[in-house]
Amino acid sequence: MINYHQYYPLDVVNGPGTRCTLFVAGCVHQCPGCYNKSTWRLNSGLPFTPELEDRIIADLNDARVPRQGLSLSGGDPLHPANVLAILQLVKRVRAECPGKDIWLWTGYRLAELDAQQMQVVDRINVLIDGKFVQDLKDPALIWRGSSNQVVHKLR
Ligand code: SF4
Repeated sequence: MINYHQYYPLDVVNGPGTRCTLFVAGCVHQCPGCYNKSTWRLNSGLPFTPELEDRIIADLNDARVPRQGLSLSGGDPLHPANVLAILQLVKRVRAECPGKDIWLWTGYRLAELDAQQMQVVDRINVLIDGKFVQDLKDPALIWRGSSNQVVHKLR
């Protein structure tokens, strides 16, 4: 089971529209100036339980407060230790939450992802990739912290 730090059932900051947002634990990139250092250790935070996974699916389908989709951040959702659990979640959103988009932030670059990580990428709508680089930080950027990062609109 993976760990997570925060789950926001209603979020208007991390991606477009009203969203559900999950911040997972575990990141190897160690970017200087990281805004989320407390998430680096895989065993930090709380266990991501099947109950929380079910809740995310239910929240995405809650017709009383329509959500545009799910945002996955961290930490790094594509940390090798997180990929299988994230793949399962992404598959469920695809199967059980029609019309919802999935945005994912990773410190890896798209070009360096392995086959398993690509199974996740093949099922999401938008990937924001690359480490945070302090010298390239620009508060005017949307959905990314530094200008080396790329917002890949995949589908
Ligand atoms: S990839 Fe993100 S969470 Fe990981 S060290 Fe860099 S800024 Fe921090």
